[in-house]
Amino acid sequence: MQLVAKCPACDAGLPVNAADAPSAIRCGRCGRDIALTFTEAVSDDRAVDRCPVCQGGDFYMRKDFAPKVGLAIIIIGASISSFFYWFGRDLMAYSILGGATLVDLAVYGRLKDLTVCYRCHTEFRGEYPRTAAAFDLHTADVLEQEYERRIGRR
Ligand SMILES: [Zn+2]
Ligand SMILES: [Zn+2]
Repeated sequence: MQLVAKCPACDAGLPVNAADAPSAIRCGRCGRDIALTFTEAVSDDRAVDRCPVCQGGDFYMRKDFAPKVGLAIIIIGASISSFFYWFGRDLMAYSILGGATLVDLAVYGRLKDLTVCYRCHTEFRGEYPRTAAAFDLHTADVLEQEYERRIGRR
């Protein structure tokens, strides 16, 4: 399982290999030491049961989507279609734009889910079965505030 731990001090994303289960990492941006406590399930890529960074047990799922890739496909599609539009080939223009949107949806649909910690936003990617529920705004509000108070950010 691969983690992207979020530094509590500066929010930098720090890649961690859960199989190594390091007991601490140092933030490359601000130099803060971050203690990590891995459960067996996390280091064996069996389940995300407890967050190694904040020890929280509440997670949600989201699509592992890089918005920039989707945007690039739409922009390329739009510029090609405006070229055809310029020459009065409206139908061609619309079908290219539609095609770009379809490619975008196909890319989106094939992406795997990743698990995110509600409290500290650490991300988990691996082969483990996905059990977390979808994002819930109310839960996020409550847990983020609790965590930020605990690490002294509020
Ligand atoms: Zn940092
Ligand atoms: Zn966490």
